[in-house]
Amino acid sequence: MPAQRTLRQVASCTGIGLHSGQKVSIALKPAPANFGIRFFRADKGVEIPAHVDYLGGVQQLQTGLSRDHASVETVEHLLSALRSLGVDNVLIELNQAEVPIMDGSAAPWVYLIQSAGTRELGAPRQVLEILSPVEVQDGDKRIAVYPFGRFKVSYTISFDHPLMRHQEKTLEITEQVFVDEIAPARTFGFLKEVELLRQRGQALGGSLDNAIVIGETGVLNALRFEDEFVRHKMLDAIGDLALLGHPVRGHLVVHRGGHALHTAFAAELLRQRDAWHLVDASESVAAPAAARVPARPAVRSAAR
Ligand SMILES: [Zn+2]
Repeated sequence: MPAQRTLRQVASCTGIGLHSGQKVSIALKPAPANFGIRFFRADKGVEIPAHVDYLGGVQQLQTGLSRDHASVETVEHLLSALRSLGVDNVLIELNQAEVPIMDGSAAPWVYLIQSAGTRELGAPRQVLEILSPVEVQDGDKRIAVYPFGRFKVSYTISFDHPLMRHQEKTLEITEQVFVDEIAPARTFGFLKEVELLRQRGQALGGSLDNAIVIGETGVLNALRFEDEFVRHKMLDAIGDLALLGHPVRGHLVVHRGGHALHTAFAAELLRQRDAWHLVDASESVAAPAAARVPARPAVRSAAR
């Protein structure tokens, strides 16, 4: 799909914010070419572009954007679906600060976008093609991107919990792969942390209907995939990278990442102007890029 796309018609729904617990109405509206993805806080009259330039404070349990006196929170699952389904231009109107959590995955957003349909706009899509590796490390957390002719994500997680000692997955992300393998994976949290979060005014809307809850010995609700946790981390990373403003042509490799690392990386990548260029999506891969692919897949070394 080399041309930019938008929605064919308005798509709207209501839900609750995971952290605020507040009810929110949201509408996805068609937008012209080169508009990009922007949020609009209808209750405040403030438009906030989905771009790293508008990242809010500390990104920990979710990714938030802010501008002037307004913010939008928990933007990552919706952005992940929009980016992966090729929606380049859309105005996301909402009447609260937090994007509804729905069922904790991106599947409801996929359904909403597919129900509205998409259409091509008369302008070429520009992709951010990686020319040389960029890496950010924070202790044992690591994130990097390498030249690759399409878009691929490798992710490894390891938590101090018997269910989640180590999960790793690599997928080349096409629209269909996203819909089938990534979008249904739900967010997750540890039961022992829920009370603490609530005392801090977070996870107020969280329940077994919108999150996998992990107890001492097992999960409290049935899993959709055996490795649903790492799949959800891939979903988050794709959504956070949507803040680059363009689809990525490259191989993203993440070890023990989270929103803080993903978003810091997106900002760093944009700063390293000689590591990438913007090309029309219809153009084939830059010749030098192939030669720069590391001989050993980086996920191997990252996992050890
Ligand atoms: Zn998430």
